[in-house]
Amino acid sequence: PYEVLVVGGGPAGAAAAIYAARKGIRTGVAAERFGGQVLDTMGIENFISVKETEGPKLAAALEQHVKAYEVDVMNLQRAEKLLPAGADGLIEVQLANGAALKARTVVISTGARWRQMNVPGENEYRNKGVAYCPHCDGPLFKGKRVAVIGGGNSGVEAAIDLAGIVSHVTLIEFDGKLRADEVLQRKLRSLPNVKVIVSAQTTEVTGDGAKVNGLVYKDRGTGETHTVELEGIFVQIGLLPNSEWLKGTLALSPRGEIEVDAHGRTSLPGVFAAGDVTTVPYKQIVIAMGEGSKAALSAFDHLIRTSAP
Ligand code: FAD
Repeated sequence: PYEVLVVGGGPAGAAAAIYAARKGIRTGVAAERFGGQVLDTMGIENFISVKETEGPKLAAALEQHVKAYEVDVMNLQRAEKLLPAGADGLIEVQLANGAALKARTVVISTGARWRQMNVPGENEYRNKGVAYCPHCDGPLFKGKRVAVIGGGNSGVEAAIDLAGIVSHVTLIEFDGKLRADEVLQRKLRSLPNVKVIVSAQTTEVTGDGAKVNGLVYKDRGTGETHTVELEGIFVQIGLLPNSEWLKGTLALSPRGEIEVDAHGRTSLPGVFAAGDVTTVPYKQIVIAMGEGSKAALSAFDHLIRTSAP
């Protein structure tokens, strides 16, 4: 059995694996796609101490760093079920290929995915004007026109944030009214360079072949379609944690995030979690790495307290 089994190979999982392996304990990583969301990212400018890098480059560096240690890297392996420790004290993780891995502690770092609009042009112009993370990509649109799709808390926060950087923000909400907290809505309404459009369904992202130049929405009241000319679109209609496989096994928040305490402990003894799949706010690479490191140290602490002398 592993002493620490990490499930997920993004920034959080890579950090957890390195911290665990550096304790000289038997460490494994099972990941559906080693690198995680970083693989889908173009420019990264907020990975502190690295002024600028690219997702695939950072993902390769993560893998190299992990492989510098004695870590069993099991790539292209999807976990489907977790069974709490039985009498033998071993937690079991069942994989889609039918194999079962046993471990004294598990760090879950299966990340999250942005909910997409699923409209024509969205995938084609991803990273070419279509963005999902205002903290990451906001500065790329300095002085330009953008739209934010979604009028929940994250959409309205994004619009407020972006309004300070870009020239103009159009916020588009499907519903008849915004769902964000009133205090955020009040702040939004006070901004001169923000326009809010409700009852609007985005139907298409348009571009010139190289980058985004507009979006098309349908007024759900009249059925008419309208075009907005812009350079960027921030899709803020939800971040979905990859925790479906854990439903009923450990405590999840109403949004499906794994509930963790300040040590990265979940509701199950010996099971820790880190990164975008957890309730820890602000889904970012540096944060995921810090949380992954912390979860591995907590797992190590758990091991030294529970193992026979
Ligand atoms: P992830 O990166 O999501 O990794 C999850 C890992 O778990 C993957 O290996 C995945 O394959 C695996 N996995 C999932 N389910 C299972 C399963 N059932 N079994 C086994 N493995 C599984 N952050 C920044 O700080 N700066 C940026 O510039 C930036 N830009 C971004 C741009 C885009 C387009 C996107 C999508 C995100 C961006 N982010 C950025 C956010 C950042 O990528 C995430 O916060 C970070 O990757 C989270 O790390 P993680 O390890 O928690 O999860």
